Amino acid sequence: MKSFFKNDKGEIHFGINGGDGFQKIDNFDVKILKNLGSKKLWRCTVCNDLRIGEIAPKQCPTCFAIDAFVEINEKEFLEMIK
Ligand SMILES: [Zn+2]
Repeated sequence: MKSFFKNDKGEIHFGINGGDGFQKIDNFDVKILKNLGSKKLWRCTVCNDLRIGEIAPKQCPTCFAIDAFVEINEKEFLEMIK
């Protein structure tokens, strides 16, 4: 099951794994999803992991695909985490 992860740069990852520097968010708070429209949102085209952060991950921490993330909008992001 996919979970939310965060790192100390304020980036958020949604997936099976978060990747280097990411820790699982145990107590999910919807505030994490505040102002999504003003943030860069990314989706892995292989496994549908999601990332909130200025830069897409080079390698997906869940499926390990390289350069597989594309930028998505807020609506698509919210659909993916339903
Ligand atoms: Zn992936």
